[in-house]
Amino acid sequence: MQENKRKRILITGAAGFLGSHLCDRFIEEDFHVIAMDNLVTGDLKNIEHLFKLPNFEFYHHDVSKFVHVPGELHYILHFASPASPIDYLKIPIQTLKVGSLGTHNLLGLAKSKEARILVASTSEVYGDPLVSPQAEEYWGNVNPVGPRGVYDEAKRFQEAMTMAYHNFHGLETRIARIFNTFGPRMRLEDGRALPTFISQALQHKDLTVFGDGMQTRSFIYVSDQVEGIYRLLFSDYCLPINIGNPDEMRLLDMAKEIIALTSSQSSIVFEPLPIDDPKQRRPDISKAKKVLDWQPKVNRKEGLMKTIHYYQTLFNSNIH
Ligand code: NAD
Repeated sequence: MQENKRKRILITGAAGFLGSHLCDRFIEEDFHVIAMDNLVTGDLKNIEHLFKLPNFEFYHHDVSKFVHVPGELHYILHFASPASPIDYLKIPIQTLKVGSLGTHNLLGLAKSKEARILVASTSEVYGDPLVSPQAEEYWGNVNPVGPRGVYDEAKRFQEAMTMAYHNFHGLETRIARIFNTFGPRMRLEDGRALPTFISQALQHKDLTVFGDGMQTRSFIYVSDQVEGIYRLLFSDYCLPINIGNPDEMRLLDMAKEIIALTSSQSSIVFEPLPIDDPKQRRPDISKAKKVLDWQPKVNRKEGLMKTIHYYQTLFNSNIH
C-alpha cells in the first residue's frame, strides 16, 4: 500500500513484551507503526527486525513527559508501563506517573489528532479478588498503600481518566483488562512466576514457589492476547473488557508441569508469599466472547511448548 494511504498507529511500550508483538501484528496488517519507548524495562532487540521497514519508526521517549508525534494519527495503543512486581517495586514513582501522567498525555494527543485510543489496563485492578471468576462489573479489592498499590492504583486511575475523556470529550476509547500473558520475549528475570519457572527449569535450578503454591493464576498465550486487543480496538465497545484465558491453575501445578515439559532435573522449593499477592485470578470472558466474538485458541500445553522452545534456542545460542 502507498505510504500516504496507510493508517498510522502509535504504540507506546513498543520495545516491551506485549508492545513488540503488537508492532508485529500491525505491521502485518500494513499499518504505519510509530513505536515509542523509554527502554526502562524494554529491549530494542524485541523490535530491531522492524527497523529496516519503511512503515516503522521508533521514538526513544518517556511518555510521562509531553508527547508529540508529527503528522496524522488514527490509533493509539498505550502499553507503556512496568508490568511485573519486581519492576514496579524498583521504580514505584515512574510506575504511578506512566499510568497517570502518561495516560493523560496520550489521551490529550488522541484528542488533538482525533485518534481512537486503547489503553492497557490489567486484572490487577481487581486486586486480591473476593469473587471468582472476575467479571468486569466487580470493583475489586485493592490495598492502595500496599507495595502493589503503585501499579494497581495507577491502572485504576488510568481507567477513570480514560472514561472521563470518553464521557466529557466524546473521545473514542477502549480499555483492555489484560490477564497474565506469556510467550516469547517475556523477560525471564522479571520475577513473574511463569518466566521464572521456565528459566529455572531450563537451567536445572530449583523452582521457587511462593507460599504453598495453592494460589491460582490463569495464563493466556500472547497470540490470543494480541488477537483480543486487535478485535477490541476495532469494536465499538468502550467499557473495560477482560482479555484472558479462564484456564485457571495452581502455581504449584504449573511448576510441576514446566519441570515435566522441559524434562528438567529441578526440584521445587517454597518461599514466603509476597505482601498482597492475589490468591486467585480467573477472568470471566463472557463479554469478550459476545462483543468481540473472541476466545483463546492456544491451549496451555501448546503455548508452553512454544515458549519453552523459544527460550531453549536462546539459551543454546548464548552457550555457543
Ligand atoms: P514490559 O515491561 O515488557 O513492557 C513495557 C514497556 O513499556 C517497556 O518496553 C518499557 O520500557 C516501556 N515503558 C515503561 N515506562 C515507560 C515510559 N514512561 N515511557 C515510555 N515507555 C515506557 O511489559 P508488558 O508485559 O509488555 O506489559 C505491557 C503493558 O500491558 C503494560 O501496560 C502492562 O501493565 C500491561 N499488562 C501486561 C500484562 C502481562 O501479563 N504481560 C498483564 C496485564 C497488563
